[in-house]
Amino acid sequence: MYDFAIIGGGIVGLSTALALGTRYPDAKVLVLEKESSWAFHQTGHNSGVIHSGIYYKPGSLKAKLCREGNRLLVEFCQEHGIQYDVCGKVIVATESEELPVLENIYQRGLANGLNVSKISAEEVREIEPHVSCLAGIKVPSAGIVNYKQVGKKYAELVEKAGGELRLNTKVERIVSNSQGQVLETTQGAFEVKFAINCAGLYSDRVAKLGGVNPKAKIVPFRGEYYELKPEKRGLVKHLIYPVP
Ligand SMILES: Cc1cc2nc3c(=O)[nH]c(=O)nc-3n(C[C@H](O)[C@H](O)[C@H](O)COP(=O)(O)OP(=O)(O)OC[C@H]3O[C@@H](n4cnc5c(N)ncnc54)[C@H](O)[C@@H]3O)c2cc1C
Repeated sequence: MYDFAIIGGGIVGLSTALALGTRYPDAKVLVLEKESSWAFHQTGHNSGVIHSGIYYKPGSLKAKLCREGNRLLVEFCQEHGIQYDVCGKVIVATESEELPVLENIYQRGLANGLNVSKISAEEVREIEPHVSCLAGIKVPSAGIVNYKQVGKKYAELVEKAGGELRLNTKVERIVSNSQGQVLETTQGAFEVKFAINCAGLYSDRVAKLGGVNPKAKIVPFRGEYYELKPEKRGLVKHLIYPVP
């Protein structure tokens, strides 16, 4: 019987497992992932941005957690030798109608305690010669990291702390009993006291397996990335965003 079983081996599932193992060192923690490697879905295919939290409402939990997460992630990477780059980001207005919105974002950044600065079009060009705009904001605390590497390190630490990790193990059915739950998977059944759903874009379906009928339904959209050839990577030095 496991104390906690986490369904999903993306960054949310793996960090949940790590946090539970730290908070309850004697607990039996299990992570079940349907794919053959960790961080296989969103976590391993995102934009790799370490967000600053500039857009969030000042005083909100999102704003607080994003700032804290930014700091903790950088510390984690330093401690475990994971490559990262706090390259900073610039948000640029290209139309005059965007200037008041840019000003609002700047004020929000200040209210969120970020070290933001307004920069003129010329100053933007000095740091990003290929950007043409009317004005910009510089946000120094934004950065980039490979979240697949972060996820893999989490998995390593969970295992080191005594957690059990199972790849190629898809949860197909969840049956509740008086002790907790039985997770029926492609690799057999696991009895657990608490099952924690961290199934990312499948979390609505996994909730249904457990007899919960969530009001929200996840509707994924397809997107595409372009990757710069190595010899062209000098074209950009920061994260560059339009006014949202
Ligand atoms: C295009 C895009 C870009 C993004 N860019 C950024 C960014 O730059 N910076 C940032 O901080 N965030 C970014 N995000 C958000 C971030 O990537 C996600 O919030 C985060 O990765 C979600 O992690 P997760 O563990 O919840 O989901 P996932 O990484 O999707 O993990 C869920 C896991 O559950 C597993 N699973 C599902 N069903 C089952 C089952 N039945 N049994 C067993 N396992 C199951 C899946 O195989 C998967 O591995 C981006 C998101 C997207 C989509």
